[in-house]
Amino acid sequence: DGPGADVRTADRHDVIRVHGARENNLRDVSLEIPKRRLTVFTGVSGSGKSSLVFGTVAAESQRLVDETYSAFVQGFTPSRNRPDVDLLEGLTAAIVVDQERMGSDPRSTVGTATDAGALLRVLFSRLGQPHVGPPGAYSFNVPSVRATGAMTVERGERRAVRQEYSRTGGMCPRCEGRGAVSDVDLTALFDDAKSLDDDPFTIPGYSMQGWYGRIYKGSGFLDPAKPIRDYTSHERHDLLHKEPTKVEVEGVNLTYEGLIPKITRSMLSKDVESLQPHVRAFVERAVTFATCPGCDGTRLAAPARSSRIGGKNIADVSALQVTDLVAWVRDLDEPSVAPLLTALRGTLEALVEIGLGYLSLDRPPGTLSGGEAQRVKMVRHLSSPLSDVTYVFDEPTAGLHPHDVRRMDDLLLRLRDKGNTVLVVEHEQEVVVVADHVVDLGPGAGSAGGQVVYAGDVAGLRTSGTLTGRHLDDRARLKDVVRARTGALEVRGASLHNLRGVDVDLPLGVLCVVTGVAGSGKSSLVHGCLPTGPGVPEVVAVDQTPIRGSRRSSPATYTGLLEPVRKAFAKANGVKPALFSSNSEGACPTCGGAGVVEVSLGMMTSVAVTCEECDGRRFDASVLEHHLGGKDVAEVLAMPVDEALAFFADGEARTPAAVRVLRRMADVGLGYLVLGQPMTTLSGGERQRLRLAAHMATPGGVYVLDEPTTGLHPADVDALLALLDRLVDGGTSLVVVEHHLAVMAHADWLVDLGPGAGHDGGRVVFEGTPADLVAARSTLTGEHLAAAVG
Ligand code: ADP
Ligand code: ADP
Ligand code: ZN
Ligand code: ZN
Repeated sequence: DGPGADVRTADRHDVIRVHGARENNLRDVSLEIPKRRLTVFTGVSGSGKSSLVFGTVAAESQRLVDETYSAFVQGFTPSRNRPDVDLLEGLTAAIVVDQERMGSDPRSTVGTATDAGALLRVLFSRLGQPHVGPPGAYSFNVPSVRATGAMTVERGERRAVRQEYSRTGGMCPRCEGRGAVSDVDLTALFDDAKSLDDDPFTIPGYSMQGWYGRIYKGSGFLDPAKPIRDYTSHERHDLLHKEPTKVEVEGVNLTYEGLIPKITRSMLSKDVESLQPHVRAFVERAVTFATCPGCDGTRLAAPARSSRIGGKNIADVSALQVTDLVAWVRDLDEPSVAPLLTALRGTLEALVEIGLGYLSLDRPPGTLSGGEAQRVKMVRHLSSPLSDVTYVFDEPTAGLHPHDVRRMDDLLLRLRDKGNTVLVVEHEQEVVVVADHVVDLGPGAGSAGGQVVYAGDVAGLRTSGTLTGRHLDDRARLKDVVRARTGALEVRGASLHNLRGVDVDLPLGVLCVVTGVAGSGKSSLVHGCLPTGPGVPEVVAVDQTPIRGSRRSSPATYTGLLEPVRKAFAKANGVKPALFSSNSEGACPTCGGAGVVEVSLGMMTSVAVTCEECDGRRFDASVLEHHLGGKDVAEVLAMPVDEALAFFADGEARTPAAVRVLRRMADVGLGYLVLGQPMTTLSGGERQRLRLAAHMATPGGVYVLDEPTTGLHPADVDALLALLDRLVDGGTSLVVVEHHLAVMAHADWLVDLGPGAGHDGGRVVFEGTPADLVAARSTLTGEHLAAAVG
């Protein structure tokens, strides 16, 4: 047995046993994970932590739970593939709390994502004056008519949409609870010089050959030969606004509806990120949004807004910062609703404890960072009465200041003490040291990793000699000399969100690090307030947000690597480069190059399953007959960066242009990344490093980075610092938002925001060199930095 068999427990019910796990790079991993304990999984980026924890243990647990549902429910559930593992024993139901952003469903808020919103509505229905009805009357998700219930499947999670019956819902009828109204630019919908016969629509999917087009043409309401600009006002109304009406077209019974309600329902009311790229481009071109004049952006109907408790309506209360809302609830002290107030306080206090007290309940979840989203999801579980559940977290300290990390530790331990098994992928030393058990993967990344190199307690990790063990007690180091600035970005009177008229100079030509507790205003400052205009250098955001693109995009397409690769294949085989693109000619005809096909489950949801024609390889079989250096193009796209570097460096496949791109990817620590891996499977940290690699092609300029250490092992942080140094020395100015103490210590200049979060923050509390901050110890950041270098 390898080092993984370290946990000797008497009772087989006390461990989760993994036998022979081989997902992605895992090398037949067998290990035991103690139940009802906090286990932290460590290892360099790409070593296989996610493949083991999320891809094997959690995936199999969730799949088994699905199988216990009736065939009817299973019909609504995407069938999950069984992970590549021989056997798993002792699994309990797993709840994955990850950094996946919560989407931008226009009707969800932090209130709806926790149960705080629902509790507030019940509170208003009991205490609000005048009394306007049942809790639904305060809900902007409940229309004034009866809503039907349904089961939906989102991102593989089954969600029951509760049956809500309500005569008087609280949804603003004007904006349907979105808080914003859309204004559709008619010139983006059709060419009004044309008639229906001339194919006038410029809406994706509305050509006259398709069913949508044929309904308009064959409805009998419109004259197909008349140019749209010559329509009578009646015809124009029918074209744009007509309510749903049954029509018979070409012998088929169909529903006719005006263009505007039809596209509003099918395109505008959905999360824009879920739309196909060409539909999204259309929506962005055709629609502008403005605050709803009916509800002033509160999403609520007039009766709900008229009802108040202590002078505040539910919209006012939802707009309060959570720390203030807690105080408001505490002041209510109304015995008739005591249990309700206790429950509401519990949820709100959990938000505060988890370091999110600066949020308001009306905040759209789409505006939260990955780390904030994960913590909001965590709140739901803190008050859950479930026990003996396996909770799985992905770097829960992402976005947290050292000051807040200890509170996160407490929360993880609290979940454990309720009798749950807590599995955490984490690099933060402060979390690793509180673990009951550590599983260290490695020794390297990709094919050089995938093994358990240590399993046991923290004391043993220190002496294990593994990379993680050696770096566990790393200290931050101050530099002897800092760089001199070459100029500055002058921010004047910045007042976005919580910023209080901030005046600050962000120096150029140096590594400038912006610090402060979560919610102090760092993102607002660097993403929303930097100066623009003539004479001011252009600022490029290199962040963790999802990279737009289809399922077909991958690191190879995103970085432009595919261009030289296609040309090399074409030259070697005497054919056209376009053949080697899974986006065009060379695509597998069945899946169109996606490698997967969407199977509709009804109710507007679908699952992606591997394409049987190409077996996920994306290309037409004839394309794969062409080789370069003994490999076909699908085999090349299955290589990790490091392997591709060796492949293109010399020999028959020698392609210097490809090597240049690959070297940049290796430089940012992505040597383990598989070239054709779908972009949708990359973590936020990986996306940011990939962006950085793409931008490194053109040195110079000003880059804003957002916690670049996310997902990085301490051993990789040194390499990241070396890379940042190289960028600055090459003429690039860096403004970096970061909590990692080693990065702060390495800065040439620090700007510290605070002193607290939300309305308690928003000021510059220190600007100067790290050494000056350590000497002054004048802020929270200063205290932690001083302790780390002391
Ligand atoms: P970690 O969580 O330690 O960063 P991962 O488990 O994400 O590591 O990755 C381990 C290896 O598996 C890496 O080489 C990575 O490129 C590869 N990998 C991860 N996800 C996929 C995927 N969806 N398709 C192909 N390879 C993947
Ligand atoms: P940090 O980056 O330091 O964590 P942020 O700039 O994200 O802080 O947040 C500062 C304040 O601005 C917080 O009170 C936060 O709730 C608020 N805020 C941030 N983004 C938005 C947004 N999109 N809409 C409303 N308020 C926001
Ligand atoms: Zn409205
Ligand atoms: Zn295919």
